[in-house]
Amino acid sequence: MANNPHGGVLKDLVARDARISAQLREEAAGLSDIVLTERQLCDLELIMNGGFSPLEGFMNEKDYKSVVDILRLADGTLFPIPITLDVSKEKIEKLSIQSGSRLALRDPRDDEALAVLTVDDLYTPERVKEAEQVFGADDPAHPSVAYLRNRVQDFYVGGAIQAIQPPTHVDYVELRYTPSELRSHFKKLSWRKVVAFQTRNPMHRAHRELTIRAARQRQANVLIHPVVGLTKPGDVDHYTRVRVYKAIMAKYPNGMGHLALLPLAMRMAGPREAVWHAIIRKNYGATHFIVGRDHAGPGKNSQGKDFYGPYDAQDLVSQYHEELQIEMVPFQQMTYLPSTDEYQPIDQVPQGVETLDISGTELRRRLKTGAPIPDWFSYDAVVKTLRESYPPRDKQGFVVLFTGLYNSGKDTIAKALQVTFNEQGGRSVSLLLGEDVQEDKVEKSYTPQERHVNAMRIAFVSAELARAGAAVIAAPIAPVEATRQSIKDTVIHSGGPGGNFFLVHVATPLEHCEKTDRKGVYARARKGDITGFVGVDSTYEAPAKADLVVDMAVQSLSEIVHSIVLLLETNGLL
Ligand code: ADP
Repeated sequence: MANNPHGGVLKDLVARDARISAQLREEAAGLSDIVLTERQLCDLELIMNGGFSPLEGFMNEKDYKSVVDILRLADGTLFPIPITLDVSKEKIEKLSIQSGSRLALRDPRDDEALAVLTVDDLYTPERVKEAEQVFGADDPAHPSVAYLRNRVQDFYVGGAIQAIQPPTHVDYVELRYTPSELRSHFKKLSWRKVVAFQTRNPMHRAHRELTIRAARQRQANVLIHPVVGLTKPGDVDHYTRVRVYKAIMAKYPNGMGHLALLPLAMRMAGPREAVWHAIIRKNYGATHFIVGRDHAGPGKNSQGKDFYGPYDAQDLVSQYHEELQIEMVPFQQMTYLPSTDEYQPIDQVPQGVETLDISGTELRRRLKTGAPIPDWFSYDAVVKTLRESYPPRDKQGFVVLFTGLYNSGKDTIAKALQVTFNEQGGRSVSLLLGEDVQEDKVEKSYTPQERHVNAMRIAFVSAELARAGAAVIAAPIAPVEATRQSIKDTVIHSGGPGGNFFLVHVATPLEHCEKTDRKGVYARARKGDITGFVGVDSTYEAPAKADLVVDMAVQSLSEIVHSIVLLLETNGLL
């Protein structure tokens, strides 16, 4: 490893172009725009601040092919991951993008021009080859292969960048450092050796032990350098994680560690990703870099096997150790030894000594059920933070959606259920009847489209309330299967722990609904005073898969309410 205080040549384009950035901004106002995707935005930020040094732009075809084939830029410099700007064919044609064009690259969140790109070339992605070479298999179970297949546009546009300004962040500004800032920080603290720790997950005791052990081995300080750009879909959100990281920093001996956030878009490319991470941490001024078990692993492939071996990443990083300018600190899996209350890498545990581990799946189960998480695994402050973001089911919000004909009894059941929930307490309760979101409360003619729009308003509000932990009872007529599916999707994908959804079909027969209609609304519909009336001149599609089917013609109200309570209890919500 070549000598490195602190990190070698840095291509800080923001600093380089500072004098001309006002000029560039003016020029950008007159240029064709590319509004970046979230991933491109992360990549651009690291190109501009030097995190991806020696890159000075998005890769042209020569660099792309060489990186895909041999993990090197065309000039031979080690760089294992293609950093490419994909643009659609329509956009290329519409803007007449060609070699020599200058394009303004804009932030998708606030439309600010961040950089000007001078197009070097346009070329087509070699999707299958890129998947096989970079990610190890053309298997869409790999999140980056799925991204390549479904999201990456028809062309890659290569070219150098001139920086106008870095993207503006409003979250955790005090924890964000550019490579230059972090290098200066280390210098200021006289930290000559810094071991960087990459992570995309909440940290627990094993991770603290791992990093402190690395620091001890190398007589170094510790940089906790978590990724807050894009990680694996389904990961714990970065707000929760940063709260966890702040809590765990307090568990380090004073002055040993530093926390800085990295706006990287991970690719989950295992071994190649580890080499990339090492280069990035070198650029940020670290001298050492931890690679543990299954570094940046994407999980299982479509055959149910791990994409990469647990120590493949360490093997690939060692292959390049001569030229990396950062030293890897490899670790086997850290595991807990109850007999001595300590963590050890598994290869150093003497035979026959008992070990304990809690897997990610088991941890998620314990958070879900509220089961205890032992002190040997984590810290109170960390567990408390995770429990706030992932409350157990009896604290999570949920939506009970009633569907059924007019006067089927669904409003009566909904109101009775509201009373039951109010009696039970513990959650705020919201009742959203169909008529509450209509313009006036009188039954009148509605088109199917109007009914859909109404139902989707209810869906939006229900999802928001459930996300905030409420018990939501919603009762639009929702006569169409597609509408009910959209409501369900809105609730389930609302994010956070509120995605609990139950469909109750109030299947009271039309005859009964009509016979007991004291307001005479069916009579008005039969006469033609109201049109588009569900059950009369507009069809009701019965749900194919309701969670519960009830019928007011044959069941009592309390029986029905009790069956709903049992359904929720079975699902751990009450
Ligand atoms: P990723 O590697 O995708 O960032 P993590 O945040 O889980 O995922 O891991 C961060 C780093 O810590 C990686 O180098 C990983 O190999 C290492 N690591 C995590 N848990 C352990 C463990 N129990 N034993 C050894 N290494 C670990």
